[in-house]
Order: sequence, then C-alpha cells, then structure tokens
Amino acid sequence: MSPAYESITARILDMLSHGQIPWRRPWRAIKGLGMQHPRNISGNLYRGANWFLLGMLSYPNPIFLTYRQAQALGGHIRKGEHGFPVVFWKLLEITEDTATEADQVGRKIPFAKTYIVFNVSQCEGLSLVLPEALPVTAEFDPIQDAEALWEGMPHRPELHYGGDRACYIPGLDLVKLPDRKAFGTPEGYYETLFHEAGHATGHASRLNRKELMSGSHFGGRDYSMEELVAELCAAFLCAEVGIDQAVIENQTAYLQGWLEKLQKDQSAFVTAAARAQKAADFILGRRMQGVGEEEAA
Ligand SMILES: [Zn+2]
Repeated sequence: MSPAYESITARILDMLSHGQIPWRRPWRAIKGLGMQHPRNISGNLYRGANWFLLGMLSYPNPIFLTYRQAQALGGHIRKGEHGFPVVFWKLLEITEDTATEADQVGRKIPFAKTYIVFNVSQCEGLSLVLPEALPVTAEFDPIQDAEALWEGMPHRPELHYGGDRACYIPGLDLVKLPDRKAFGTPEGYYETLFHEAGHATGHASRLNRKELMSGSHFGGRDYSMEELVAELCAAFLCAEVGIDQAVIENQTAYLQGWLEKLQKDQSAFVTAAARAQKAADFILGRRMQGVGEEEAA
C-alpha cells in the first residue's frame, strides 16, 4: 500500500478505536435541516467537523451564536441550555518572546481554538427577526479536481440524480444519487459519489468482485466487506483531491458501523483496504498488473 493510503488507513483505524461518532451521512443531515447549512449568526458557514456536529442537531433554524454574540444582541441564553463546542484552526506565529530557540521565530504553527455556541432557539430576548426559513443559497459549487477525477474514470458507469438515497445497482451498472444540491457541501457530494464509484469497480466488466456481483444480502459478511471496500476507496479518492479532512469524521462513523458487523476483524479491514486501493487505482486509471487477482493481505 502506498504511504499516503497507509497513513489514511492508520488514521481511520485510530479514530475507530476511539468509540462511536454519531455523525450522519451528508445528505441526511441536510435533509433534517430542510437543506440548510449550519451557520454563525454573523453569516459564516460552518465547515468540516463543525458542520457535521452542528448539522446533526435538529433545530428549525440552523443559526448558532456565542454567549457574547447573544449579549451583543440584547439577549441571553435560556437557563439550563447547553452549548455545543466548535473548533477552529488558527495559525500562530512564533515571536521572539514565545520562541524557545532562535530559528523558530517567524514560523507559524496551527493551534485549535474551541468556542461554545448555542442555537438561536436556546436564547431569549435577542433583538433580531429570524427568517422563517433561510433562503437556499445552494448553487452547487463543483470541486474541479474531484469532478475531473470522476470524469476521467475509465469505463464509467451511468449516473442518475433524484430520490433521497445513494446506491449502485450492479444489474444496470448505474449509480444513483440525490440531487447535488441536497448535499450540504460539495465535499459530501463527492465523497458519496466516490463511494458509489468504488462499488461500481466491482462490476463483472471491471474488477469483478464476488461480494458485489453475488448480490449478497444486506448486513451479511460479504455485504459488510463490500461496504468497507467502497468507503475506503472513497477515503483514498478524497485524499487524492484534497478533501479528506472535510469528510474523514463522517467516514469513520460509517466505517465503524460496518467494521462492527465484521466483529472488529482487523484482518478483514486490511483485506478491504488492499481491495479499496485496487478500486481507487482503477478509477484513477492506474491499472497495474495483477488486477483481478486476490492480493495477499
Ligand atoms: Zn455502499
């Protein structure tokens, strides 16, 4: 396995070992919010892990603010309400005062700053008029590299939009996805597309994975293995186009579900990772010798 993929697998395994993360799939979170994106009262949209964390809450208005922002609007947080942590990364420049060694001065180091935010409906007395529903801002904003990756897939399956579930149908060699705008972020859309493309690599006309083609029943071992392969393939492809940070927590929660079905069988995970690499290589057009053979895990 390439070092980049190894480090992703290691990161996912590490996160899996830290317990369940109850984040949902990207379009479901958004569906629950009427396709609205969680945002700060200032208008700034939350991204990445903050988006997942706030997106899973089911307040009618996905608008959040800090204690101070509530005060500035003449209101306060209702007694007994609990806030939600959000994390932002900042770059801190090392100065002569903070450096421990001379050559550190001027270097920038990332550090995480945590804020506690509350939903507007946890507040009282705010002097603002809440919109009935936020306008849907979502013009889908494609991520060029991710788009190019999908369009460059050799022997691509068909892609249809509509409905509220994502799936790959082997009998029709067809990927079905909810409409692009139903996804909270473009990253969420591409992660889902790459997952289904991962399944499609198992088609008889491509890598011919028996777990996909045998029509194994939902929840069975073969089904779980195929899900792991598809999701790891998506993780690798997200890393290829630089959106892995934005989706990794979501993927971890998903992978964990399937891994539990494989009874925390670590060798199954390694086997799945090797197959996922083959799937990712196929989609990237990096067809190596030995494709189609079972790789020793
Ligand atoms: Zn799947």
